[in-house]
Amino acid sequence: MESLLTIAPMLATAAYIVSSLLFILSLAGLSKHESAKGGIVYGVSGMALALVATTFLALTTGWNDPAAQLGLIFLVVGLIIGAAIGLWRARVVEMTGMPELIAILHSFVGVAAVLIGWNGALFDTGTPESFKGIHHAEIFIGVFIGAVTFTGSIVANLKLSAKISSKPLMLPGKNLLNVGALVGFVGLTVWYVITPDISLLIAVTVLALALGWHLVASIGGGDMPVVVSMLNSYSGWAAAAAGFLLNNDLLIVTGALVGSSGAYLSYIMCKAMNRSFISVIAGGFGIAAPSAADEETGEHRETDAASVAELLRNATSVVITPGYGMAVAQAQYPVADLAARLREKGVNVRFGIHPVAGRLPGHMNVLLAEAKVPYDIVDEMDEINEDFATTSVVLVIGANDTVNPAAAEDPSSPIAGMPVLRVWEAENVIVFKRSMASGYAGVQNPLFFRENAAMLFGDAKQKVEDILRAL
Ligand code: NDP
Repeated sequence: MESLLTIAPMLATAAYIVSSLLFILSLAGLSKHESAKGGIVYGVSGMALALVATTFLALTTGWNDPAAQLGLIFLVVGLIIGAAIGLWRARVVEMTGMPELIAILHSFVGVAAVLIGWNGALFDTGTPESFKGIHHAEIFIGVFIGAVTFTGSIVANLKLSAKISSKPLMLPGKNLLNVGALVGFVGLTVWYVITPDISLLIAVTVLALALGWHLVASIGGGDMPVVVSMLNSYSGWAAAAAGFLLNNDLLIVTGALVGSSGAYLSYIMCKAMNRSFISVIAGGFGIAAPSAADEETGEHRETDAASVAELLRNATSVVITPGYGMAVAQAQYPVADLAARLREKGVNVRFGIHPVAGRLPGHMNVLLAEAKVPYDIVDEMDEINEDFATTSVVLVIGANDTVNPAAAEDPSSPIAGMPVLRVWEAENVIVFKRSMASGYAGVQNPLFFRENAAMLFGDAKQKVEDILRAL
């Protein structure tokens, strides 16, 4: 037993190195969909090994100490409860609920970093005098990033689950508030390093909680995909800061991997959506208040399933642009049948996929693959945008923001500049939705009032089935 206790830290370090390598392999695997399954296996194996090694280390370190033994009981009970809840949530979560689940998981990392920071401040026993300043700075940085991640992720969860409005919060002087909070953080950190008073830690915790809330509340619905990956990055940096405090190399490496890959993903998404990276990470810095964006701006025309079937019978080319509503209605199966039926009749049918259609990257591709739509008729936005002008009929199935002409034509629109599917250039556009309600970004869609557009109101699945019957 004695020898096991002596070599335990070395064994744990070796396991941590293997876990870090598995996490790197996991990221590499997840970057392509052919290797994504392997990437998940590497990630799960790395995490399982890390949990076993950490429990083993805690077990051997606390073997003879009654206080540590109590901690061990907490650790094991926490692991069992956490794993049970995690498994249950992952089993029952709907595909459409995935982004909000991810957002809430980020908030757990944030709150863990805050608690670790506070623990480091209240129960600091072994830090040598010469390292005290660094230790105090680590506490402050960990608590700050953790608290911003915590409230930011809660707001993201509330917005994504539609429990609060997805419109940007426009407080007067919002940019000044954000910059002021950052300056306040730097000032408080310097002060705390010189005089480590607990009231300063309380102040920075409150400041960061408010900043996290405000940063994400200020961002409009159209930019939420970037916010989710940005919070992913923040949660990584929060974990890395906790790693420094706990002196845990694996947490530092893992946190840095999550932090940097999340930041890079946010950057790529901003480029794809023609958004300023700095503006989004600074809580919509420089974005003006939307101007009465959700007011209706004309007369719309309604149609029915039989007329749409007639239109499709005479069409030579059809493009289907699915969106979040297709996922809600679970309409992918009848939509796939409709595409197959039209193709049998010699109609050229393709799908046009916007990079942020739905509520998570690749959402539409997953649904269409589920319904066995052949890959070669599924085109990305850039591949299909040129072809709308020569298309007979576009079927917009539960999409809204991703087909909004205001993004291309109205510089005052909150989604101005975001690339969209130019469906309005086609001869006929049929919009499947249940009402005139706006999309996720809360912006009215002028497409609905164009002369070549008609609304087919109702649940998308039911309406597509009606068309199939009429065909
Ligand atoms: P939108 O969210 O803009 O619009 C979806 C439309 O579907 C709504 O207008 C709704 O209208 C309609 N709808 C809902 N349920 C049904 C149903 N059962 N049958 C028929 N229609 C239905 O969708 P898009 O996919 O076009 O755009 C995605 C938006 O989500 C973008 O703003 C994007 O930025 C944001 N987002 C994307 C993420 C991602 O990673 N992809 C993550 C987070 C946000 P009605 O209620 O009238 O039926």
